[in-house]
Amino acid sequence: MKRPAPDPADEAPFWRRRSLEEMSRAEWESLCDGCGRCCLNKLEYADTGIIAWTDIACRLFDDATCRCSDYPHRSERIPDCETLTPRKVRTLTWLPPTCAYKLVAEGRDLYWWHPLVSGDPETVHLAGISARHRTRSEEGIPPEEFDDYVVDWPGEDPAMRIEVSERGKAPGKRGARR
Ligand code: SF4
Ligand code: SF4
Repeated sequence: MKRPAPDPADEAPFWRRRSLEEMSRAEWESLCDGCGRCCLNKLEYADTGIIAWTDIACRLFDDATCRCSDYPHRSERIPDCETLTPRKVRTLTWLPPTCAYKLVAEGRDLYWWHPLVSGDPETVHLAGISARHRTRSEEGIPPEEFDDYVVDWPGEDPAMRIEVSERGKAPGKRGARR
C-alpha cells in the first residue's frame, strides 16, 4: 500500500530537524533570539576559569533596540566580536545558557519566548531575557574597572531556575564577544 506523502505543515520546525551544520544561512540567522547577552563584556577569572558577565555592553550595542548598530561591519570595527559558527557554539565557554544556538547544539528545544516559537520579536524582551534597557556602554569605562559591573542575570536561565554565575577572585582577561 502506498503511504501518503507527509504534510509539510506536520513537520517539526527546522531547529528540531536539522543540526547547526545543516541549517541554511537564513535559518541560521533566524535562530538568534535577539537577546543581546553575547554583546556584554565578560571576565574570565584566571584562577578558576569561571566566566562572570558584566552589564557593560560593546560600544556598538544599541541598548534601546537591543541590536548591533553596525552589524554588517562589526568584524572590522570590533575585532574581538566573535562570528558564531557551529564549531564555536560547541566550544566557546561564555555563551549565555539561554542562547538559542547553544540550546540547539545541546539537543534542547527553544523556549517559548524565542521569536521563532512565539512569532513575536518582543517576547524575548517581555520575558526578561534580553539585555534591552539593562546595559551601559563600555566607552569611558577602563577594563580594570569592569569587575565593578559584574551582574548575574546574563548567566541565568529563568526557565530552568539555574544560576550558573559563580564568582572567583581576581579578574583575568576579558571574554570575546559575538
Ligand atoms: S546570546 Fe545567542 S541568541 Fe542571544 S543574541 Fe547572542 S547569539 Fe543571539
Ligand atoms: S559584540 Fe559584535 S554584534 Fe554585539 S554589538 Fe558589538 S560588534 Fe555588534
